[in-house]
Amino acid sequence: MSGTTARPVEAVELTRAFEKGDLMLHYQPQVDVSHRWPKIVGYEALARWPLSDGNFISPDRFIPVAEASGIVTALDIWVIETVCKEMAHARTKGASGRLNMSANVSAQHFGEAQFAQSVADILEKTGVDPGCLTLEITERAVLAKGDLTMRNILDLREMGVSLTLDDFGTGYSSLFHLKCLPVQEVKLDRSFITDLPHQARDAAIVSATIKLASELGLRVVAEGVERASQASWLRTNGCQIIQGFLYGRPAARRHHQRGA
Ligand code: C2E
Ligand code: MG
Ligand code: MG
Repeated sequence: MSGTTARPVEAVELTRAFEKGDLMLHYQPQVDVSHRWPKIVGYEALARWPLSDGNFISPDRFIPVAEASGIVTALDIWVIETVCKEMAHARTKGASGRLNMSANVSAQHFGEAQFAQSVADILEKTGVDPGCLTLEITERAVLAKGDLTMRNILDLREMGVSLTLDDFGTGYSSLFHLKCLPVQEVKLDRSFITDLPHQARDAAIVSATIKLASELGLRVVAEGVERASQASWLRTNGCQIIQGFLYGRPAARRHHQRGA
């Protein structure tokens, strides 16, 4: 794929592409840097909409359209199902070691009554260990919804699925969410990472967040790490997991298409 395209996204076109099975997933590695040698411990699945001209439409553009048109719930379920099939497939190929897969879930979906049950059905069908699946939720999602969101979160936790607060620090009341939500991980948003290590304010925010998370027993993933100097600073300051172009861009693994 050569690049992203900026043309407007139409809901009807997105729905058609999704139903035809044109969307696919790319996977970006998450690397544990707490030991001497960096080690891949998981992947985040990121949706891609490839076009026939070799370009693709970025999820930043089509996810909002999917949310507005309502197909995002089907899309998220497809993503969760695909990553679980991928994990089950890896197991049949004799993959050793425990790899975690993360999937992003839209705010809308966390507020739907059937969400946790749909995830339970997928886990049962694929035989995947719930502890290997992480669902990424944004702070906006938690803020926007009420009791049903909390019910889903608690049910998923009871099943053993891990939860991450994605884009941490960019939403409202971040600390309140850490107090109230049973998450296991926070993902520090790229906007705090970009100017490390020389930007003193970012460095102070990131190191304080890592300390806070560690006191709470949470893992911290730093997103958008592109340079060795950022990784080395993060490692020195106690950040265990790193995700970013430095260790790998999102890329296709097998051909993930709907119904495949
Ligand atoms: P996100 O979940 O915060 O994903 C991280 C984004 O940062 C991805 O953009 C990834 O490609 C990009 N990224 C990772 N490392 C680097 C780096 O070192 N440098 C730079 N410049 N960027 C990096 P992407 O794939 O364009 O996804 C954008 C957003 O779209 C995601 O942000 C997520 O919120 C949403 N999204 C993607 N796939 C899905 C999906 O399947 N379902 C839902 N609901 N949302 C999705
Ligand atoms: Mg994410
Ligand atoms: Mg993020």
